[in-house]
Amino acid sequence: MADKSEMIRELKERVAQLEPLEDEPDFFTSEETIIRYLKSRDWKLEEAERMLMDTVEYRRRTRPLRLDCSFCHSRPGFHSMRQVGHDEAGRPVMYANFAQASTHRNSAEDAVCHVTYLIENAKRSMALGISTWVFVMDCTGMTLSSCNPKLAYAVSNVLSNHYPEHLGTVICLNHSPVFHGVWKAIKQFVPPQTAAKVKLVRSKAKIAEVFSKHFSPELAAWLKEEIALNKQKPLSKEQLEFWNPPSTGSGKAHDPRGCPTYVSEYLEPFKRECGKQRNCDGHAEGDVTSGEFRYLPHPNVADCLRGHVVRAVALTPEEKREREHAQEVVEAKSRDGGGEVEDGEVGTEGAIGGNGCDLDIPSDLQIPPTARPLTAPS
Ligand SMILES: [Zn+2]
Repeated sequence: MADKSEMIRELKERVAQLEPLEDEPDFFTSEETIIRYLKSRDWKLEEAERMLMDTVEYRRRTRPLRLDCSFCHSRPGFHSMRQVGHDEAGRPVMYANFAQASTHRNSAEDAVCHVTYLIENAKRSMALGISTWVFVMDCTGMTLSSCNPKLAYAVSNVLSNHYPEHLGTVICLNHSPVFHGVWKAIKQFVPPQTAAKVKLVRSKAKIAEVFSKHFSPELAAWLKEEIALNKQKPLSKEQLEFWNPPSTGSGKAHDPRGCPTYVSEYLEPFKRECGKQRNCDGHAEGDVTSGEFRYLPHPNVADCLRGHVVRAVALTPEEKREREHAQEVVEAKSRDGGGEVEDGEVGTEGAIGGNGCDLDIPSDLQIPPTARPLTAPS
Protein backbone atom coordinates (compact mmCIF):
# COMPACT_ATOMS: atom_id res chain seq x y z
CA MET A 1 0.00 0.00 0.00
CA ALA A 2 1.19 3.44 -0.85
CA ASP A 3 2.22 5.51 2.11
CA LYS A 4 -0.15 8.10 3.51
CA SER A 5 1.55 11.16 2.07
CA GLU A 6 1.44 9.51 -1.35
CA MET A 7 -2.32 8.87 -0.92
CA ILE A 8 -2.95 12.45 0.17
CA ARG A 9 -1.13 13.67 -2.94
CA GLU A 10 -3.04 11.23 -5.16
CA LEU A 11 -6.48 12.18 -3.81
CA LYS A 12 -5.64 15.87 -4.10
CA GLU A 13 -4.71 15.33 -7.73
CA ARG A 14 -7.87 13.38 -8.51
CA VAL A 15 -10.24 16.01 -7.14
CA ALA A 16 -8.25 18.93 -8.51
CA GLN A 17 -10.16 18.52 -11.79
CA LEU A 18 -13.51 19.35 -10.15
CA GLU A 19 -15.04 22.74 -10.64
CA PRO A 20 -14.27 24.79 -7.51
CA LEU A 21 -17.10 25.59 -5.11
CA GLU A 22 -18.12 29.20 -5.48
CA ASP A 23 -18.18 30.00 -1.75
CA GLU A 24 -15.20 27.92 -0.74
CA PRO A 25 -12.80 27.31 -3.64
CA ASP A 26 -10.25 25.59 -1.38
CA PHE A 27 -12.64 23.17 0.30
CA PHE A 28 -11.73 19.96 -1.47
CA THR A 29 -8.07 20.68 -2.12
CA SER A 30 -7.22 21.59 1.46
CA GLU A 31 -5.04 19.04 3.17
CA GLU A 32 -7.32 19.06 6.22
CA THR A 33 -10.30 17.93 4.12
CA ILE A 34 -8.30 15.38 2.14
CA ILE A 35 -6.92 13.78 5.30
CA ARG A 36 -10.33 13.64 7.02
CA TYR A 37 -11.92 11.84 4.09
CA LEU A 38 -9.05 9.37 3.76
CA LYS A 39 -9.04 8.72 7.50
CA SER A 40 -12.78 8.23 7.61
CA ARG A 41 -12.56 5.64 4.79
CA ASP A 42 -9.73 3.87 6.55
CA TRP A 43 -7.24 5.17 3.95
CA LYS A 44 -9.01 3.45 1.06
CA LEU A 45 -8.38 5.85 -1.81
CA GLU A 46 -11.29 4.93 -4.10
CA GLU A 47 -13.84 5.08 -1.28
CA ALA A 48 -12.46 8.38 0.05
CA GLU A 49 -12.60 9.85 -3.45
CA ARG A 50 -16.21 8.79 -3.96
CA MET A 51 -17.23 10.15 -0.58
CA LEU A 52 -15.46 13.48 -1.09
CA MET A 53 -17.02 13.89 -4.54
CA ASP A 54 -20.46 13.31 -3.02
CA THR A 55 -19.80 15.97 -0.41
CA VAL A 56 -18.56 18.43 -3.01
CA GLU A 57 -21.79 18.00 -4.98
CA TYR A 58 -23.82 18.24 -1.74
CA ARG A 59 -22.09 21.51 -0.82
CA ARG A 60 -22.50 22.84 -4.36
CA ARG A 61 -26.21 22.12 -4.16
CA THR A 62 -26.93 23.26 -0.59
CA ARG A 63 -24.34 26.08 -0.19
CA PRO A 64 -24.10 25.46 3.56
CA LEU A 65 -21.99 28.56 4.22
CA ARG A 66 -25.01 30.70 3.34
CA LEU A 67 -27.52 28.58 5.20
CA ASP A 68 -29.74 30.18 7.80
CA CYS A 69 -32.31 28.56 10.08
CA SER A 70 -35.62 30.01 8.97
CA PHE A 71 -37.39 27.90 11.60
CA CYS A 72 -35.72 29.87 14.41
CA HIS A 73 -36.33 33.22 12.71
CA SER A 74 -40.02 32.58 12.21
CA ARG A 75 -40.50 31.10 15.65
CA PRO A 76 -37.81 32.29 18.09
CA GLY A 77 -36.36 29.50 20.16
CA PHE A 78 -37.58 26.83 17.75
CA HIS A 79 -34.21 25.20 18.37
CA SER A 80 -32.29 25.76 21.59
CA MET A 81 -29.03 24.23 20.38
CA ARG A 82 -26.33 26.87 20.36
CA GLN A 83 -22.62 27.31 20.69
CA VAL A 84 -21.79 28.38 24.24
CA GLY A 85 -18.00 28.33 24.30
CA HIS A 86 -14.92 26.21 23.61
CA ASP A 87 -13.42 23.37 25.58
CA GLU A 88 -9.91 23.27 26.98
CA ALA A 89 -8.59 21.92 23.69
CA GLY A 90 -10.21 24.78 21.74
CA ARG A 91 -13.07 22.70 20.32
CA PRO A 92 -16.43 24.51 19.92
CA VAL A 93 -18.98 23.41 22.53
CA MET A 94 -22.66 23.26 21.59
CA TYR A 95 -25.41 22.99 24.20
CA ALA A 96 -29.07 22.02 23.72
CA ASN A 97 -31.95 21.63 26.10
CA PHE A 98 -35.36 20.46 24.95
CA ALA A 99 -37.34 22.31 27.63
CA GLN A 100 -35.97 25.62 26.33
CA ALA A 101 -37.06 25.06 22.74
CA SER A 102 -40.24 26.83 21.64
CA THR A 103 -41.58 23.76 19.88
CA HIS A 104 -41.45 20.12 20.61
CA ARG A 105 -42.58 19.11 17.16
CA ASN A 106 -39.38 18.74 15.21
CA SER A 107 -38.77 17.22 11.82
CA ALA A 108 -35.70 15.77 10.18
CA GLU A 109 -35.68 18.77 7.82
CA ASP A 110 -35.62 21.45 10.52
CA ALA A 111 -33.11 19.55 12.68
CA VAL A 112 -30.67 19.09 9.78
CA CYS A 113 -31.03 22.76 8.84
CA HIS A 114 -30.26 24.03 12.35
CA VAL A 115 -27.40 21.62 13.04
CA THR A 116 -25.79 22.48 9.71
CA TYR A 117 -26.05 26.22 10.41
CA LEU A 118 -24.55 25.65 13.82
CA ILE A 119 -21.57 23.54 12.79
CA GLU A 120 -20.71 25.64 9.75
CA ASN A 121 -20.45 28.61 12.10
CA ALA A 122 -18.65 26.60 14.76
CA LYS A 123 -16.01 25.80 12.13
CA ARG A 124 -15.38 29.54 11.77
CA SER A 125 -14.59 29.70 15.48
CA MET A 126 -12.00 26.92 15.37
CA ALA A 127 -8.32 27.76 15.63
CA LEU A 128 -5.89 26.28 13.13
CA GLY A 129 -5.33 22.61 13.87
CA ILE A 130 -8.70 22.11 15.58
CA SER A 131 -11.17 20.04 13.57
CA THR A 132 -13.65 18.54 16.03
CA TRP A 133 -16.50 19.77 18.18
CA VAL A 134 -18.37 18.81 21.33
CA PHE A 135 -22.11 18.53 21.96
CA VAL A 136 -23.65 18.72 25.44
CA MET A 137 -27.15 17.30 25.14
CA ASP A 138 -29.27 18.16 28.16
CA CYS A 139 -32.23 15.83 27.65
CA THR A 140 -34.51 17.62 30.12
CA GLY A 141 -37.86 18.06 28.35
CA MET A 142 -37.09 15.61 25.55
CA THR A 143 -40.14 13.95 24.00
CA LEU A 144 -40.51 11.60 21.08
CA SER A 145 -41.91 14.36 18.91
CA SER A 146 -38.85 16.55 19.57
CA CYS A 147 -36.31 13.78 19.09
CA ASN A 148 -36.95 10.38 17.60
CA PRO A 149 -35.10 7.70 15.66
CA LYS A 150 -36.19 9.08 12.27
CA LEU A 151 -34.88 12.57 13.04
CA ALA A 152 -31.71 11.24 14.72
CA TYR A 153 -30.96 9.07 11.68
CA ALA A 154 -31.39 12.03 9.30
CA VAL A 155 -28.96 14.18 11.31
CA SER A 156 -26.47 11.32 11.74
CA ASN A 157 -26.66 10.63 8.02
CA VAL A 158 -25.58 14.17 7.12
CA LEU A 159 -22.85 14.21 9.78
CA SER A 160 -21.52 10.83 8.71
CA ASN A 161 -21.55 11.45 4.95
CA HIS A 162 -20.59 15.10 4.81
CA TYR A 163 -18.81 15.97 8.07
CA PRO A 164 -16.62 12.90 8.70
CA GLU A 165 -14.13 12.92 11.57
CA HIS A 166 -15.52 16.15 12.99
CA LEU A 167 -17.32 14.79 16.03
CA GLY A 168 -15.27 14.98 19.21
CA THR A 169 -17.62 13.99 22.01
CA VAL A 170 -21.34 14.00 22.77
CA ILE A 171 -22.10 14.32 26.47
CA CYS A 172 -25.70 13.38 27.33
CA LEU A 173 -27.18 14.49 30.64
CA ASN A 174 -30.58 14.03 32.27
CA HIS A 175 -31.22 11.20 29.86
CA SER A 176 -34.66 9.70 30.10
CA PRO A 177 -36.20 6.46 28.80
CA VAL A 178 -37.14 8.40 25.64
CA PHE A 179 -33.49 9.14 25.04
CA HIS A 180 -32.51 5.53 25.74
CA GLY A 181 -35.08 4.29 23.23
CA VAL A 182 -33.89 6.69 20.54
CA TRP A 183 -30.24 5.94 21.24
CA LYS A 184 -30.76 2.17 21.09
CA ALA A 185 -32.47 2.54 17.73
CA ILE A 186 -29.87 4.83 16.20
CA LYS A 187 -26.87 3.05 17.70
CA GLN A 188 -27.43 0.10 15.40
CA PHE A 189 -26.94 2.39 12.41
CA VAL A 190 -23.84 4.36 13.38
CA PRO A 191 -20.26 3.09 13.19
CA PRO A 192 -18.88 1.83 16.53
CA GLN A 193 -16.26 4.62 16.50
CA THR A 194 -19.07 7.20 16.46
CA ALA A 195 -21.13 5.38 19.10
CA ALA A 196 -18.08 5.30 21.37
CA LYS A 197 -17.99 9.11 21.34
CA VAL A 198 -21.42 9.32 22.99
CA LYS A 199 -21.08 9.51 26.78
CA LEU A 200 -24.09 9.14 29.00
CA VAL A 201 -23.51 10.68 32.38
CA ARG A 202 -25.95 10.73 35.22
CA SER A 203 -24.53 11.10 38.72
CA LYS A 204 -23.41 14.49 40.00
CA ALA A 205 -19.95 13.09 40.64
CA LYS A 206 -19.61 11.81 37.09
CA ILE A 207 -20.89 15.08 35.61
CA ALA A 208 -18.34 17.00 37.68
CA GLU A 209 -15.60 14.60 36.55
CA VAL A 210 -16.50 14.83 32.84
CA PHE A 211 -16.89 18.60 32.95
CA SER A 212 -13.57 19.14 34.69
CA LYS A 213 -11.87 16.78 32.24
CA HIS A 214 -13.08 18.69 29.17
CA PHE A 215 -13.98 22.21 30.21
CA SER A 216 -12.40 25.22 31.86
CA PRO A 217 -13.72 26.00 35.35
CA GLU A 218 -15.59 28.94 33.76
CA LEU A 219 -17.43 26.85 31.15
CA ALA A 220 -18.07 24.01 33.61
CA ALA A 221 -19.63 26.48 36.06
CA TRP A 222 -21.71 28.06 33.27
CA LEU A 223 -23.02 24.68 32.12
CA LYS A 224 -23.83 23.61 35.66
CA GLU A 225 -25.88 26.74 36.26
CA GLU A 226 -27.60 26.62 32.86
CA ILE A 227 -28.60 22.99 33.37
CA ALA A 228 -29.95 23.68 36.87
CA LEU A 229 -31.95 26.71 35.66
CA ASN A 230 -33.46 24.66 32.82
CA LYS A 231 -34.80 22.09 35.26
CA GLN A 232 -37.07 24.63 36.89
CA LYS A 233 -40.77 24.44 36.22
CA PRO A 234 -42.12 26.63 34.86
CA LEU A 235 -39.06 27.77 33.01
CA SER A 236 -38.17 31.40 33.72
CA LYS A 237 -38.61 34.01 31.00
CA GLU A 238 -34.83 34.55 31.02
CA GLN A 239 -34.17 30.90 30.19
CA LEU A 240 -36.97 30.69 27.66
CA GLU A 241 -35.63 33.73 25.84
CA PHE A 242 -32.08 32.42 25.95
CA TRP A 243 -31.03 34.80 23.16
CA ASN A 244 -31.28 37.87 25.40
CA PRO A 245 -28.42 39.10 27.58
CA PRO A 246 -29.18 39.39 31.30
CA SER A 247 -31.06 42.61 31.98
CA THR A 248 -28.81 45.54 32.79
CA GLY A 249 -28.17 46.14 36.42
CA SER A 250 -28.55 42.48 37.27
CA GLY A 251 -24.87 42.33 38.17
CA LYS A 252 -23.49 38.86 37.88
CA ALA A 253 -26.69 37.29 36.54
CA HIS A 254 -26.32 34.16 34.45
CA ASP A 255 -26.10 34.84 30.71
CA PRO A 256 -27.95 32.01 28.91
CA ARG A 257 -26.28 32.91 25.58
CA GLY A 258 -22.99 31.35 26.63
CA CYS A 259 -20.05 31.48 29.02
CA PRO A 260 -18.38 34.87 29.71
CA THR A 261 -15.39 34.24 27.42
CA TYR A 262 -17.63 33.24 24.49
CA VAL A 263 -19.79 36.32 25.04
CA SER A 264 -16.80 38.67 25.09
CA GLU A 265 -14.90 37.02 22.23
CA TYR A 266 -17.77 36.27 19.83
CA LEU A 267 -21.02 38.02 20.75
CA GLU A 268 -19.72 41.45 21.70
CA PRO A 269 -17.53 41.81 18.57
CA PHE A 270 -20.53 40.68 16.45
CA LYS A 271 -22.65 43.39 18.05
CA ARG A 272 -19.97 46.03 17.44
CA GLU A 273 -19.71 45.00 13.78
CA CYS A 274 -23.48 45.18 13.38
CA GLY A 275 -23.44 48.65 14.88
CA LYS A 276 -20.90 49.78 12.26
CA GLN A 277 -22.69 48.32 9.25
CA ARG A 278 -25.69 50.08 7.85
CA ASN A 279 -27.36 46.85 6.93
CA CYS A 280 -26.47 43.62 8.59
CA ASP A 281 -29.90 42.03 8.46
CA GLY A 282 -29.23 39.81 5.50
CA HIS A 283 -27.20 36.74 6.12
CA ALA A 284 -25.35 36.20 2.91
CA GLU A 285 -23.90 39.43 1.55
CA GLY A 286 -23.90 41.36 4.80
CA ASP A 287 -21.98 38.58 6.46
CA VAL A 288 -19.21 38.26 3.95
CA THR A 289 -16.27 40.39 4.93
CA SER A 290 -13.12 40.40 2.80
CA GLY A 291 -14.21 37.27 0.97
CA GLU A 292 -14.85 35.34 4.16
CA PHE A 293 -18.08 34.43 5.85
CA ARG A 294 -18.14 35.79 9.34
CA TYR A 295 -19.10 33.91 12.46
CA LEU A 296 -22.80 33.92 13.28
CA PRO A 297 -24.16 32.84 16.66
CA HIS A 298 -27.56 31.12 17.14
CA PRO A 299 -30.04 32.80 14.73
CA ASN A 300 -32.02 34.44 17.54
CA VAL A 301 -28.90 35.56 19.41
CA ALA A 302 -27.74 37.10 16.11
CA ASP A 303 -31.07 38.87 15.55
CA CYS A 304 -31.00 40.25 19.05
CA LEU A 305 -27.43 41.53 18.59
CA ARG A 306 -28.52 43.16 15.33
CA GLY A 307 -30.82 45.26 17.45
CA HIS A 308 -34.11 43.46 16.91
CA VAL A 309 -36.52 42.75 19.71
CA VAL A 310 -37.01 38.99 19.74
CA ARG A 311 -39.79 37.58 21.86
CA ALA A 312 -40.65 33.99 22.67
CA VAL A 313 -43.76 32.62 21.00
CA ALA A 314 -46.26 31.16 23.42
CA LEU A 315 -47.23 27.56 22.85
CA THR A 316 -50.79 27.01 21.69
CA PRO A 317 -53.00 25.35 24.32
CA GLU A 318 -52.89 22.17 22.24
CA GLU A 319 -49.09 22.18 22.06
CA LYS A 320 -48.88 22.94 25.76
CA ARG A 321 -51.13 19.98 26.60
CA GLU A 322 -49.20 17.74 24.23
CA ARG A 323 -45.87 18.74 25.73
CA GLU A 324 -47.04 18.35 29.31
CA HIS A 325 -48.49 14.95 28.54
CA ALA A 326 -45.27 13.82 26.84
CA GLN A 327 -43.24 14.99 29.82
CA GLU A 328 -45.53 13.23 32.27
CA VAL A 329 -45.03 9.99 30.35
CA VAL A 330 -41.27 10.45 30.52
CA GLU A 331 -41.36 11.15 34.24
CA ALA A 332 -43.66 8.19 34.94
CA LYS A 333 -41.33 5.90 33.03
CA SER A 334 -38.37 7.19 34.99
CA ARG A 335 -40.21 6.54 38.27
CA ASP A 336 -41.05 3.02 37.12
CA GLY A 337 -37.36 2.25 36.90
CA GLY A 338 -37.02 2.97 33.23
CA GLY A 339 -34.37 5.52 33.98
CA GLU A 340 -32.04 3.47 36.14
CA VAL A 341 -29.27 3.40 33.57
CA GLU A 342 -26.06 4.37 35.28
CA ASP A 343 -23.10 6.27 33.95
CA GLY A 344 -21.65 4.78 30.81
CA GLU A 345 -23.20 3.17 27.82
CA VAL A 346 -26.79 2.09 27.32
CA GLY A 347 -26.71 -1.53 26.30
CA THR A 348 -28.86 -2.99 23.58
CA GLU A 349 -29.39 -6.31 25.32
CA GLY A 350 -32.95 -7.36 25.87
CA ALA A 351 -34.23 -4.64 23.61
CA ILE A 352 -37.78 -5.18 22.50
CA GLY A 353 -40.33 -3.35 20.46
CA GLY A 354 -40.13 -1.21 17.32
CA ASN A 355 -36.69 -0.12 16.21
CA GLY A 356 -35.06 -2.34 18.80
CA CYS A 357 -36.08 -0.52 21.94
CA ASP A 358 -38.69 -0.90 24.62
CA LEU A 359 -40.51 2.31 23.80
CA ASP A 360 -43.69 2.39 21.83
CA ILE A 361 -42.47 4.47 18.89
CA PRO A 362 -45.06 5.30 16.20
CA SER A 363 -44.01 3.97 12.81
CA ASP A 364 -43.75 7.47 11.28
CA LEU A 365 -41.05 8.36 13.82
CA GLN A 366 -38.98 5.24 13.29
CA ILE A 367 -35.95 4.86 11.08
CA PRO A 368 -37.28 4.02 7.58
CA PRO A 369 -36.93 0.29 6.77
CA THR A 370 -34.90 1.17 3.68
CA ALA A 371 -32.28 3.10 5.72
CA ARG A 372 -28.77 1.76 5.41
CA PRO A 373 -26.18 1.62 8.16
CA LEU A 374 -23.85 4.61 8.23
CA THR A 375 -20.29 3.55 7.65
CA ALA A 376 -18.17 6.69 7.91
CA PRO A 377 -17.30 7.79 11.43
CA SER A 378 -18.73 11.25 12.19
ZN1 LIG B 1 -33.07 26.69 14.23
